[in-house]
Amino acid sequence: VSSKNPLLFTHFSGGGLVAYSEGNILSSSPKIDELPEAGNKKKRVVVLGTGWAGTSFLKNLKNSSYDVQVVSPRNYFAFTPLLPSVTVGTVEARSVVEPIRNIVKKKNVNVNFLEAECYKIDAKNKKVYCRSTQDEKEEFIVDYDYLVVAMGARVNTFNTPGVEENCLYLKEVEDALKIRRSVIDCFEKASLPNVSEDERKRMLQFVVVGGGPTGVEFAAELHDFVSEDLVRLYPAVKDFVKISLLEATDHILNMFDKRITAFAEEKFHRDGIDLRTGSMVVKVTDKEISTKEIKTGKISTIPYGMAVWSTGIATRPVVMDFMKQIGQANRRVLATDEWLRVEGTNSIYALGDCATINQRKVMEDISSIFKKADKDNSGTLTVKEFQEALDDICDRYPQVQLYLKNKKMSNLVDLLKESKGDVAKESIALNVEEFKSALSQVDSQMKNLPATAQVAAQQGSYLADCFNRMDECEKHPEGPLRFRESGRHRYKHLGQFAPLGGEQTAAQLPGDWVSIGHSTQWLWYSVYASKQVSWRTRSLVVSDWMRRFIFGRDSSQI
Ligand code: FAD
Repeated sequence: VSSKNPLLFTHFSGGGLVAYSEGNILSSSPKIDELPEAGNKKKRVVVLGTGWAGTSFLKNLKNSSYDVQVVSPRNYFAFTPLLPSVTVGTVEARSVVEPIRNIVKKKNVNVNFLEAECYKIDAKNKKVYCRSTQDEKEEFIVDYDYLVVAMGARVNTFNTPGVEENCLYLKEVEDALKIRRSVIDCFEKASLPNVSEDERKRMLQFVVVGGGPTGVEFAAELHDFVSEDLVRLYPAVKDFVKISLLEATDHILNMFDKRITAFAEEKFHRDGIDLRTGSMVVKVTDKEISTKEIKTGKISTIPYGMAVWSTGIATRPVVMDFMKQIGQANRRVLATDEWLRVEGTNSIYALGDCATINQRKVMEDISSIFKKADKDNSGTLTVKEFQEALDDICDRYPQVQLYLKNKKMSNLVDLLKESKGDVAKESIALNVEEFKSALSQVDSQMKNLPATAQVAAQQGSYLADCFNRMDECEKHPEGPLRFRESGRHRYKHLGQFAPLGGEQTAAQLPGDWVSIGHSTQWLWYSVYASKQVSWRTRSLVVSDWMRRFIFGRDSSQI
């Protein structure tokens, strides 16, 4: 491992702290309260990340036989579902974050937090390499017996030229604050004298890229901010404001029930939000966004003042590097078994977005392979086309090959139908049995585990429960078996919200029960108030909502 400053290379082990210089121990400064009890060596658990998955794991870990080190570049937990509200000041940034040290203050479990990012996982030697986020960028190593990878994901730009340089993201608290400043900047700049009409128009053109729940909610929040607060404060420029939402597929909120999608699209039309579906961004410069119409291939440009990119997520480089080490290089996701243990390892667990989101991508990938195999676009595959598609999928995803061998499942035809319309059974009869087994397992993983806070939090508490019971299982040989049979992770979907602005929300609840409107907004308020991680943030969020009702949102540029 190369260290910028070998003297600052530090090694954490068994709760102690040892400084190294080119491999030689220089000094040791173990913290007394972190040392394992004599004769009772505690297992070292390292948790990477303090997001939904990592925090839920830490909150639910109760077994005192672990020595826990938490490594994360941010020393707080952020309630991400309220980030779109932070972008316009409906709630304040500090109301949606809670210091991780507050959350993990446990009487019986020894948890130590290190504000740093992990830049390498060494699975063979059971070490993680970390770099402090402070100015000195101090580097150190942490040893583990068990590693919990909960590092989330990064924004996916699909390598679209100019996105990184010119677009804002909506992923972290800092991003939300940047957006808030940028919106007000655009209004202030557009209000200056000597600004041409065209420039004014450009500055007040807000573009949101991505019609998923985050993009839609942000566009709705921005529309509310403009129509409820800013038009009163900036009457001279209000007629120049335009909000556009670009989505590459035919509809926004694709993952929701069609009734919700239709309601949202109609509402946006009524609100004057310029909704452009079937429109893919191909390039972004500092002042213009180029889009390509999917159906016609026509390229057009939109001059803009602020653009927010919200098109999904991708794997972090450190996770990709780890995947290479453990033979998952040809996968695009960190694959785990149903007990959340990373395949190819026996002491590393992965949960949350870094392990689940890409499984959904595998599904999309498989669907697109089928679409490609269907050369004449007839909606059916010949046996030859089917075999080619199968080969392609197995090449890319060795786990599918494994599933093929299992021959357990039953709904391949449904899956194929879903991915490409109608499928003639006889045309794929050759491999139907094996394929049933392979793809429906992959299918169930994709479908059940979307990249949401709900999944991440459930996985965190499930894994903590496993860790709480690990001793018991190890002591009783029959335990692990019993445990494994009944204890694999099962996701329980509790429903999904899509706030649409104007005090209206859509909700898709279990059993595909759909509810839309003002009363659902009140359900949203109560669910999100109750889900807050502490009473402190709960009271802050509720008082922010009340403040907004009474005084409106604050547009000061501080
Ligand atoms: P995260 O919560 O992203 O946490 C990752 C953690 O890893 C962070 O603490 C990060 O600092 C840390 N980390 C990053 N790099 C490193 C490194 N190198 N070393 C160590 N630590 C590292 N889901 C819902 O269910 N409902 C919603 O309404 C909803 N709304 C959302 C709105 C927005 C704006 C966003 C961005 C997401 C929303 N989500 C929602 C999705 C949800 O936030 C994610 O699915 C969830 O955060 C995933 O949890 P996670 O723990 O895997 O990752």
